[in-house]
Amino acid sequence: MCTTYVGAVVAEKLSGVGVKIEGLPRLIRLNPNCPWKTRGNCAISLTVEVEEDQIETVKILTKSTIEELAELREDQTHPGAVFLHGEPDAELQKFARRTVTELIELDEARRIIEKKGVEAITFKKGRGVIGALAAASYPLGNEATYELIAYRTKIFRGKERLIDPDSVFKMDRITSPYTFDNLDHSTGEIRITPHTPCPILYGIRAVSPEAALMAHNLVRVKEPIEKWAIFETNQATDHHYVLTRIGEIKPYTSVRVVGVVEEEPVIIPGGHVFFWIRDHTGKIRCAAYEPTRNFRWLVSRLIVGDVVEVWGGVKPKPSLPLTVNLERIRIVKLAPKVKRFPPRCPNCTTAMKSKGLTAGYVCEKCGEVSPPSAAILVEVDRGIQLGVYEVPSRSRRHLSKPFGLARVY
Ligand code: ZN
Repeated sequence: MCTTYVGAVVAEKLSGVGVKIEGLPRLIRLNPNCPWKTRGNCAISLTVEVEEDQIETVKILTKSTIEELAELREDQTHPGAVFLHGEPDAELQKFARRTVTELIELDEARRIIEKKGVEAITFKKGRGVIGALAAASYPLGNEATYELIAYRTKIFRGKERLIDPDSVFKMDRITSPYTFDNLDHSTGEIRITPHTPCPILYGIRAVSPEAALMAHNLVRVKEPIEKWAIFETNQATDHHYVLTRIGEIKPYTSVRVVGVVEEEPVIIPGGHVFFWIRDHTGKIRCAAYEPTRNFRWLVSRLIVGDVVEVWGGVKPKPSLPLTVNLERIRIVKLAPKVKRFPPRCPNCTTAMKSKGLTAGYVCEKCGEVSPPSAAILVEVDRGIQLGVYEVPSRSRRHLSKPFGLARVY
């Protein structure tokens, strides 16, 4: 089941019994590299303003809705919910931010829940309380982005989504960059619809609730929408990246690190590109995989000595070196690429012939020899420019900030 849908249903039921919901429900994405995560690794929170006698109703409705909707037979489904009174304190906020950058053990979440006297309900292993506590405590400040999610009616779920593609292209033209990730411009693929049999018909990401709503009104669908909700999210905030040094990179994190290209990129069968970077603390492998398309072309043109800043997730794989799976790269400095040409003979000015890379040159006319250092060096155009480059939308993490995202003040 989709967590956002459960959240939307809880919100609807609470409103139905007269509980006042404050602001928008929040959709918080957690560490995308977590090995036991659910697909989107998200958690939902709602802020409600209640009278003392409504508190029990809120709890009962939340619990019964999870019971009703959660697919508890699924191996990876271990739902949990927490009820937090008042504002989250600094410790809770810090915990929340760490759920995006680190791996948090269930025991730690349990300890905090106990220490703070937070009420929690769990199903099966109850791992969901980690995300629940994070979503309820997450400090978004003014960095929030928004997602309007439209849900399908029950009988349409699992079937092909009936959306007019032209209306999505039009919506993108009109509302971008106030909305984002509507399309993958590298393939023309529509990105607002998921490919899973979940209840989501589409999700429109935006920098403001107004832009999301405007875009929603432009999309034409040929099936009924059961309900829709706008969530306040930590998507597109870059909150998952940890600025670090190469020697300090930990598995299951997302890092931002600067290094010098140490080995020429290698393209392997399947089209993945690998290269190594180094700083004074160590070296690490970087990868641009096939789905990143043209991004690989850029990366494959790096040469030894280039200085780059890379952003990416670090997920260890057995028998492979720790690798940063690139999501973005900044080319900070390009090393000069030089091509060597044979010199003219100092004796008779005939063009000399190379005897091999280290053997120098020989004049075929008069027999004169010159050392390798006599070569004429010409700097060639690298064909790439300094700047920031990102993977196409289809390969981007929910948490990554797309290039050219509009800012709303
Ligand atoms: Zn000569």
